[in-house]
Amino acid sequence: MSLFELLKRLSEAPGVSGFEYSVSNIIRDELKNHVNSIQTDKLGNLICVKEGLKEKPTLMIAAHMDEIGLIVKHVDEKGFLRFAKLGGISDHLLLGSRVAIHTRKGIVYGVIGCKPIHLMREEERKQLVPYDKMFIDIGAKSREEAEEFGVRVGDPITLERNLIQLKNNLVCGKAFDDRVGCAILIEVLKNSKPKSRVYGVFTVQEEVGLRGATVSAFSLNPDVGIAIDVTTSADHPEVSEHESPVKVGLGPAILVADGRRDSLAGGLISNINLRNKLIELAERLKIPYQVEVAEGGTTDATAIHLTQKGIPSCVLSIPTRYVHSFSEVLSLKDAENLVKLLTAFVEEEFSP
Ligand SMILES: [Zn+2]
Repeated sequence: MSLFELLKRLSEAPGVSGFEYSVSNIIRDELKNHVNSIQTDKLGNLICVKEGLKEKPTLMIAAHMDEIGLIVKHVDEKGFLRFAKLGGISDHLLLGSRVAIHTRKGIVYGVIGCKPIHLMREEERKQLVPYDKMFIDIGAKSREEAEEFGVRVGDPITLERNLIQLKNNLVCGKAFDDRVGCAILIEVLKNSKPKSRVYGVFTVQEEVGLRGATVSAFSLNPDVGIAIDVTTSADHPEVSEHESPVKVGLGPAILVADGRRDSLAGGLISNINLRNKLIELAERLKIPYQVEVAEGGTTDATAIHLTQKGIPSCVLSIPTRYVHSFSEVLSLKDAENLVKLLTAFVEEEFSP
């Protein structure tokens, strides 16, 4: 399967935080003949071990399986659903979206509605509709009927978006954050001959607070940690270059530091040796790359580097437009280049 096909399959699979099993099944299937062992831990992290020529230093590479989405909060007597959000979602991206509710009886489709514009007062029209003024219409006539269709409080909800191709090797789809990371990690585990043991960890519940990475890093206690994720690239109208210097198509980004917007608190400052080794490798192999300081978010590497006695960690990411929308855009070339870079890294000697 090509990287494009793999990404399409992973992107279109449902898996909001805490409900990652469909994604986990695809990955297990892809890797079962390519790694030494695969197991699922108590939180649902999929841990794939690929042995190298020696045991140490061990390397944990994390990519999260979960995507942002919704969860059923209430079913009213007329059969309309209210929902809570799982992960950081701007409310205005939801209206009019088609959704899939994953029930015990299979998928039930719905659409997100609100009071129509024709019935809004002048001031109402100017305001964004908050998500708690929205609802999901599945076509049911009553609460009882919705329940008969299988819908229950707590059912996970994904937005319906197929992957499409744009020009110049760009693709657009949902959940590239972080299914592109999953696709890259699958390729690296499949095609590399590691120097020492690699733990490929497909984590759960990243979008709600790095939960899967926290427990898996603690139990594996690796010598080195790397997270693969997406990073914001706003190389488009309405954003100036200094606000978002990383660009789509110019190579994967090697992270120096990330965290909250005002202080870089709550994030990661990459281990300097590890970061320099990755840069040196990219230079030597003539793989294009970008170096970044990312304000306004963080990744699984933050949880990894603070576990046990502290673990040297770094982030490699794919520049992505419209992150945390349901139509993210990235370059397949960047993804291929990250596969190359990471494959070379696991095949070389590195001591933290
Ligand atoms: Zn992510």
